Order: sequence, then C-alpha cells, then structure tokens
Amino acid sequence: MTFEEIKNLDEQYVMHSYGRFPVAIDRGEGATLWDVDGKEYIDFTAGIGVASLGHGDQGWLEAVTRQAAKLAHISNLFYTEPYAKAAEKLCTRTGMSNVMFGNSGAEANEAMIKLARKWSFDRYGKGRGTVITLRNSFHGRTITTLAATGQDKFHDYFFPFTEGFRYASANDMDSLEEVAGHDVCAVMVELIQGEGGVLPLDREFVEKAADLCAKRDWLFLVDEVQTGVGRTGSLFAFQQYGIQPDAVSFAKGIAGGLPFGGVMANERCQDVFTPGTHGTTFGGNPIAAAAACHVLDRMDGAFLAQVTEKGDYLRAQVEELALPCLGKTRGMGLMTGVEVKEGWTNRDLAAKLIKNGLLVLTAGPGLRFLPPLTITQEEMDKGLAILKETLG
Ligand SMILES: *Cc1c(COP(=O)(O)O)cnc(C)c1O
Repeated sequence: MTFEEIKNLDEQYVMHSYGRFPVAIDRGEGATLWDVDGKEYIDFTAGIGVASLGHGDQGWLEAVTRQAAKLAHISNLFYTEPYAKAAEKLCTRTGMSNVMFGNSGAEANEAMIKLARKWSFDRYGKGRGTVITLRNSFHGRTITTLAATGQDKFHDYFFPFTEGFRYASANDMDSLEEVAGHDVCAVMVELIQGEGGVLPLDREFVEKAADLCAKRDWLFLVDEVQTGVGRTGSLFAFQQYGIQPDAVSFAKGIAGGLPFGGVMANERCQDVFTPGTHGTTFGGNPIAAAAACHVLDRMDGAFLAQVTEKGDYLRAQVEELALPCLGKTRGMGLMTGVEVKEGWTNRDLAAKLIKNGLLVLTAGPGLRFLPPLTITQEEMDKGLAILKETLG
C-alpha cells in the first residue's frame, strides 16, 4: 500500500486520539528505519523507548520465534519457564524479592498502586490509601494512573477520577512534607520525569524522600517504565541513585518491542498480593517473557557501559552543534532531553527533523531522544548530521 492509502484507511477507521506525523514506517534494522516509499530514517525514538535492542535484532527474533512456535499463550493458571526465568533475572539483578507481570506501563503502575494500598490496608485498615506523586509526572492513561499523574491537563473530561492522590513539587522536601498526612501510604516518583521533559530528580531529594517513607511507614514506589531496562546506563535508574525502593514498575523496553511490564516488590511488600487479589489474562505471556529474558541477558555490564558512553557522546555532540533553536541537554544514558529555546516549538522542530529523516520525540516543552540502546556510532553521527542540516 502507498502512504496515502494507509493514511486514508487509518483516518476513516481509527479513532483520532493521536496526532500522527505523516510517515508510514515499514521496516527497520538496528536504529535505521524505512518508510513504505523506501525512504531511510535514523531512529532516535525506539518506539518511545521500547525497541531497546533496535529493530530486527537477530537474537531477539530467534528468542521470540522459538517461543512462538512452542507455546504462545496459556494464562496465569499454569506455570511456564520463560515467566519464572524472567522474574528470576529481574530480581537477582535488582535485589528485589518478587514480580507481578502485566502488559503495559499504566497497568504496571496500577498494580503498584494497588500493592501499596493493600499493603497499608493489611497493616492499618481503611483510610490510609493516599499516594503522593510529583508535579509534572506521568504515570499512564487509565483513570487511576491519570489521577496519579501530577499535571492538570490530564485531569479533564473523564470525571470522576480515582480519589487518593496528592501532588508535591519535585526536588522540594518542604512541599512533600506539606502534603503528608495520616491518610498516606506511599510516595511514587519517576527518577527522571520522562514525558514531563526529561527532568532528573536530585539525588539528595530522592534519598530524603526514601528516608521520610521509612520514617512514616510509607512505601517508596519508583516508576521505571521509561528509565528502566538499561535506558539510563544501569539496568534500573534507582541503582544509580543509591536507594532500594519498596516497589519498582517497568514496561516499555523490557521485551524489546512486545507488550510487557510489571511491578517488582521488596521483602516489605512481597506478600501483599494473594490468590484472587490481582490478575491479568495476558500478563507474563510466554512470548513476551521469552523476549524479556533475551533482553535482560543481553544487558550485561559491557552493554550498559556502552549505553552510558553513547549517551554522553550524544549529549556532548548536540551541545557542540550549538544550534540556534536548541539549548541545554539533560539526561542519563540514552535518555536525553534537549531544551527548545523561545521562539520555536518542539512539535514544529520534530516535524522538520522527521521530514528530513530523523525520528525524534517531544517531552514537556523540549525534544527527547530515546534511541535503541544498540545504536551504532555511524547511526548516531548520521542523526547528528540531520540535526545540524535541519536546524542549523
Ligand atoms: C510511558 C510511561 C507510562 C505509561 O506506559 P504505557 O505502556 O503507555 O501504559 C507510565 N509511566 C512512565 C514513566 C512512562 O514513561
């Protein structure tokens, strides 16, 4: 099909909930993509941080097809090997105790919120279900995770929202103490606010917030849906913050392109979910779990060190270009935010870059780069050249 044919079908039959760019991607290899007309693009998006090993990775493909040929799905009523192995790999590499699998980031956060509320209910009974989240956060699109998201623009249309969320300002302990109360059971944060603009939390704030949680007998919940699975140069970002959260949610990059996610708990809250208290039909699906096992095996120390190196290179190069419309860069590993200066808008810049062959994302008022973690030097340099040509 031609681009126009695909677009017309899509516009007629798909609900208009996305502002799409005028490109139909057909296939990919590594961090390079081709559209249906054969035009080449460098991918600084990885499908919003999902294709962590790049497109068409041979090892990933083998892991997925091997499992698909054996058993595609069987439900949570039975044991499967990829499921148990994926859980083991996650726990042994993070110091967490156990895992509940789901299929997406919002669902992982929903499970993490349920975990915190039941944990508190089991100890204290009703009336202690409030979760404090941060302003400018993003936690998902379900009614509850929208309520957890600390941005007013997400709190519209879908009334009534789930009760029991209060918002504190990031990197501001006074603000956190201000919204504290006897009804609180947990604090939930992204260590780098992704959708909000790639805004890292200060180490000191994170340590103090975790201390406050311990002191008040709250859980410290970390949403690593975007920062997790190698994205920031460690398997999870919390490992660079010197803390051990009570629960960690993950999704996006975990299965290298298949829908998968979940929440890990430490020993404090590992026994909260009992039979019948939480579940999902697809969660832990064998194909996605086999993909996750492969992704986790590939992310050894050398792989993660390269993520850090490539990220540092990319940010240094973007700053060196000193493009008139772009300001400072932020981020860790291959999660990069770029400031867009006054007089330009991120959406316009992204559209121009995409037109010229570089796929990028927006975040908050800035641009965001989340390339596949396997991006090569050559691909990064091609992307930087397009950036220079287009915005120079
Ligand atoms: C993307 C994202 C989510 C939502 O994940 P979905 O898979 O889209 O439901 C939640 N939290 C963070 C930090 C995210 O980046």
